[in-house]
Amino acid sequence: MVQIINSKLFEKISPNDLIEATYKASGNFQVRAFFEAKDEILKTGKYTEEEFYEILDGMVDAETERYLILNKVKGKKPLFLEEIAEIIKEFPPENVIRDIIYLKEQGYIEEHIEIKTKTVIKKIKGEEKEVEEKEYFYRYQVKELPDNFIEHYFEPISIVYDAGVCCQCGWCASICPVNAIAVTADTLEIDDEVCMKCGLCYSVCPRSFSIEQALLSMKKIDKSLQFSEKINGYLNTYSATTTKDKIKKVRQDGGIVTSLLEYLLKNKLVDAIVAVQHSKDFWKPEPVIVDNLNDLYKTGGTKYANASTLAIIGQTKNYKNIAVVGTPCMINAIEKSNLFPTRVPFFNNIKYKIGLFCMESFPYEGVLKLIKEQFDKDFTKVTKMDISGGKFIIYLDSGEDLRVPLNNVKSYARANCHYCEDLTSDYADISVGSIGSQAGWSSVITRSKKGEEIFQGAVEVGLIEFQNLKDVKPGLGLLERIADTKRKNCKPIELIKNQKT
Ligand SMILES: Cc1cc2nc3c(=O)[nH]c(=O)nc-3n(C[C@H](O)[C@H](O)[C@H](O)COP(=O)(O)OP(=O)(O)OC[C@H]3O[C@@H](n4cnc5c(N)ncnc54)[C@H](O)[C@@H]3O)c2cc1C
Ligand code: SF4
Ligand code: SF4
Ligand code: SF4
Repeated sequence: MVQIINSKLFEKISPNDLIEATYKASGNFQVRAFFEAKDEILKTGKYTEEEFYEILDGMVDAETERYLILNKVKGKKPLFLEEIAEIIKEFPPENVIRDIIYLKEQGYIEEHIEIKTKTVIKKIKGEEKEVEEKEYFYRYQVKELPDNFIEHYFEPISIVYDAGVCCQCGWCASICPVNAIAVTADTLEIDDEVCMKCGLCYSVCPRSFSIEQALLSMKKIDKSLQFSEKINGYLNTYSATTTKDKIKKVRQDGGIVTSLLEYLLKNKLVDAIVAVQHSKDFWKPEPVIVDNLNDLYKTGGTKYANASTLAIIGQTKNYKNIAVVGTPCMINAIEKSNLFPTRVPFFNNIKYKIGLFCMESFPYEGVLKLIKEQFDKDFTKVTKMDISGGKFIIYLDSGEDLRVPLNNVKSYARANCHYCEDLTSDYADISVGSIGSQAGWSSVITRSKKGEEIFQGAVEVGLIEFQNLKDVKPGLGLLERIADTKRKNCKPIELIKNQKT
């Protein structure tokens, strides 16, 4: 994966080039904005002075690396990201790839998209048919810039919210050094008087600019994972269930998420977990930091209303190792920060990302309306909600269960979920959902060595039993089909920026 920038990375650069690049980097608009706001930042109490300088150092190092890379690709014809990474030997290929994408956003680099059409044979309703498919090829080239060119500064992410595509993950609120952003499950507000235009929020927001091409190119370099266009890179896929009665009482499906979290806490692999529990408003998810097993069991089960879980990560600074449970949009936000590391202390503490499958979520008010209009029931009587076999199901305290076709409830879902293409938390260490497995079991995708280790660890201590997902019905085939549908139906994001690209 991408290396966090440090001075070792500049070992292969001549002292003169490094001095020039660092000088240029320290004049960068965002670096200066951050530096000049030092007093305001320290006043918030979010960071110590030492942490402030660590973040500043990170910003200067990142700019220095970008400047050096830009100089090395100037004058070259349009190239694929992997080709550029091949040419530049001074930095790890992953860093080169992510920097090209960032330089594009800063206005230095142009993206050339070539579309080709190919004919493929596909099975449609049991019959093999020839189908035309479009293929997209992305190449990158340094722009010819006018003498008066001014680098794009990143606008505050209110443009994401105003465009109606914010997924309310809350990550920007945690990242903002001056606490200028307030995010809830439904709202986002920026205090313009406080914002100092450092651009950090924009660089990590999963909906600001796409990092898809960077991640796909990195996948081509990293051969350690199996790769599926539908569910992305993975090590193994399982169908699994918990063996523990206490977890069975609170779980949504196989209780795998809670079992993994119990394993992590008990074995001191983490000292805290960020998850959600029921708030005092029934069925409204409340993000929580959990550091003991009793509180952990309160987080079991799916709440279909969305939560801005990542907004509380900023409060986990004093825990050394944390695990985060989140929907794909949250996991994508964290992955983007992995690509553009901001060296904020709580980000480095995130050791495990446990991703959920997610087709869509609902506004809290939408969940209440749905229960009333579709089932004519009082939501306080509902003990569990589920989406399974194309139905939205509610379980009542009377023991009764009621179901309506999923299509009946689609209109209650959040509009911004239509801009989401990820069903299976593509960038988690381990992803968990129900599609593909039988009732009471979860489908599990391990995607990193860490993810596989904790799954096998929980199996070894007898917390989880499992089968191979490829050996169960409906299994991996159904999961891939539904994941593919979500990708294909995803709407493109178009932000209206003040600056021309
Ligand atoms: C909004 C939403 C939509 C989903 N849609 C699908 C789907 O279309 N297909 C599918 O296969 N699976 C979907 N899931 C995942 C599924 O419902 C289960 O969460 C998953 O199978 C794990 O089950 P479990 O028994 O292992 O989890 P449990 O052991 O019951 O643990 C559940 C975990 O989910 C977390 N959680 C609950 N609600 C939320 C929330 N609103 N936001 C963030 N985290 C939450 C809790 O913190 C807890 O850690 C969805 C989940 C959510 C939250
Ligand atoms: S980081 Fe998350 S909450 Fe903030 S603007 Fe982006 S999508 Fe919305
Ligand atoms: S709102 Fe964004 S740009 Fe403004 S100070 Fe916070 S992180 Fe920086
Ligand atoms: S569909 Fe996407 S944007 Fe909506 S809650 Fe799920 S992961 Fe987030």
